[in-house]
Amino acid sequence: PVTTSPLHIAVVGGGIGGLAAALATARAGHRVTLVERAARFAEIGAGLQLAPNASLALDELGVLSAVRHTAVAPPRLVMMDALTGEEITALDLRGAAYTDRFAHPYLVTHRTDLHAALLAACREHPAVTLHTGHTVTEADQDGSGVHLHFAEAHAGLTADAVVAADGLHSRLRRALVGDGEPVCSRYVAFRGALPTARMTGRMSQHAASEAVMVWAGPRMHLVQYPVRRGELYNQVAVFESDRYTPDSDDWGTEAELEERFGGSCDAVRDALPLVSRDRRWPLFDRAPVDSWVHGRIALLGDAAHPMLQYLAQGACQALEDAVALGEALGRCADPADAFTAYADRRRARAARIQTNARRFGEICHLEGMGATLRNMLLASRGPEAFDDISWVWTPAPAPVPAP
Ligand code: FAD
Repeated sequence: PVTTSPLHIAVVGGGIGGLAAALATARAGHRVTLVERAARFAEIGAGLQLAPNASLALDELGVLSAVRHTAVAPPRLVMMDALTGEEITALDLRGAAYTDRFAHPYLVTHRTDLHAALLAACREHPAVTLHTGHTVTEADQDGSGVHLHFAEAHAGLTADAVVAADGLHSRLRRALVGDGEPVCSRYVAFRGALPTARMTGRMSQHAASEAVMVWAGPRMHLVQYPVRRGELYNQVAVFESDRYTPDSDDWGTEAELEERFGGSCDAVRDALPLVSRDRRWPLFDRAPVDSWVHGRIALLGDAAHPMLQYLAQGACQALEDAVALGEALGRCADPADAFTAYADRRRARAARIQTNARRFGEICHLEGMGATLRNMLLASRGPEAFDDISWVWTPAPAPVPAP
């Protein structure tokens, strides 16, 4: 419920971050127009892990039960050695140690299902207007508002303030921050979800366990987990290419995928032919920046803090952003003040996760003696050893309102 006069906020981008931001802003009592460049709202056909910080955010946005309807709550998060096939370490995601520490579930979902739940909630909210086929090219602002220009023949849009949730290659960020292009990690991902019934032999046992399986190997890894009530099985194969060239797409190819995973254990080699090859995804991030807010324009989600996926937190952080944005817009009368409060609450935490995601990728991809030492160190940890990950899965509390 709004404690300030209603504003008109434009949100650029209808991904998970943009839809969540639109919903949070409308729930804070403001009017929202969301513009998306694609002809229709959609997400890619792969899975997403939602740690308890994300399910808390979904609860605060009023969509957790809709998401839980199709999501799976995996019992374990297991790290396996991709070469030997042996278990390195595992966390128990349903036991008392988990539930004592985290009030919300660890979920895995199909991206389309999460996106659809957010989209349905936006469509149902009378204060949200959604437009597809609107590509923002520029944003002009003065002290009273922001005017958006579009590549298509639509009239421009004027709003009191703008949330730029236009993703990794954000055009608005490029105009405002000036830190060049995203950083390519030389790693690529091949990913997609297939009917679980297609998993056979050893793979069907892993699929039936409903665990999140992370097979860590030298400069590569494979992640597997069920989504959509267990009907689909998501697989993501990630590896470093030796043939990276910045100006071409001729690196990180299917042939390199086969080569890099060639020496892996039987279970991983069995899974490889069923990893989706429709499209390859070069993996990018950026170094953290402080400048998320530029007057009446604020960055959110990947536009603000693109990160490597090794902590599975990019979308989780975008959801946390949305909740913090809604809270600030419900409290501050001036949108620029609300944006500053939002960024102050979120910046340091997102930066820490961005930085640690790179480190976690390095640990996951160790080879030789490094991998042996990692396995020895992690083997001593029990299934309730949440101390190291707990800060990632626990968002900063909302500020206490002044009396
Ligand atoms: P996007 O999803 O990129 O959305 C941006 C939207 O803006 C798009 O719809 C786009 O069409 C639109 N747009 C762009 N430019 C314009 C414009 N000029 N005008 C209008 N619209 C525009 N995160 C997790 O939390 N858990 C995971 O398990 C996880 N796994 C991952 C695995 C891989 C392999 C990868 C690559 C990422 C993973 N992530 C994960 C990260 C997560 O996918 C992203 O952080 C998240 O999707 C970002 O959402 P977003 O809304 O900020 O950006």
